[in-house]
Amino acid sequence: MKIRQVSDHIYALSTWVIIPIHVWLVRAAEGLTLVDAGIGPMAGGILRTVDQLGHGPIRRILLTHGHVDHVGAIDPVLKNGDIPVLVHPEEIPCLEGDLPYPRRKKAQRTVRPGVVTPLPLSVDGMPVSPDGDAPSDGLVPYHTPGHAPGHTVWFHPEDGVLLAGDLFTSRKGQLRPPIAMFTADMAQAMRSARILEQLNPSRLEVCHGGPVRNPLEQLPGYLERYA
Ligand SMILES: [Zn+2]
Ligand SMILES: [Zn+2]
Repeated sequence: MKIRQVSDHIYALSTWVIIPIHVWLVRAAEGLTLVDAGIGPMAGGILRTVDQLGHGPIRRILLTHGHVDHVGAIDPVLKNGDIPVLVHPEEIPCLEGDLPYPRRKKAQRTVRPGVVTPLPLSVDGMPVSPDGDAPSDGLVPYHTPGHAPGHTVWFHPEDGVLLAGDLFTSRKGQLRPPIAMFTADMAQAMRSARILEQLNPSRLEVCHGGPVRNPLEQLPGYLERYA
């Protein structure tokens, strides 16, 4: 497990299984938030890092989506304490195995039914932090469908960091599209990339790749090349 401090409040933890897999720990006064839960073998490293950082315990888990490489450490982390696991409601039938993800033949249960809780939605249908307008961990959700129907990115305005899950991948600091084979609707994922225009993060983190600085500067070229 590699640990990298991304910003004042955010740490990226990563492993490598054919591709890099990242999860993030976000520090707040009340404890840590885990964003995404990687694969099962990352659980030990996540819990050791929580001990080392000294800002624990983990008080909730926020998911970008329910794919198998983003949920693996949920159960072992929950063994250390009963905490909420939140995801956009559109992900729940897919991750609980009731519906296949779009373009997949078979439904696949990636999380035990009943473990995840739907993110609350505002009156206009946008996901909001479980704390409402003042998230205690500083993380604001934005629905960015395409890679998965309920794909959600988490923005930390104070640190200027966007935890983008699988909205993008990256290589050598350059934005790349999400992995096509696992992407439900690539055209929609390209439209969702425009969230960068709204948020203009100084740093972007993806699950499968390294950090990207000032990603908005790359957006026109990215859309021209891949959309
Ligand atoms: Zn994915
Ligand atoms: Zn992924």
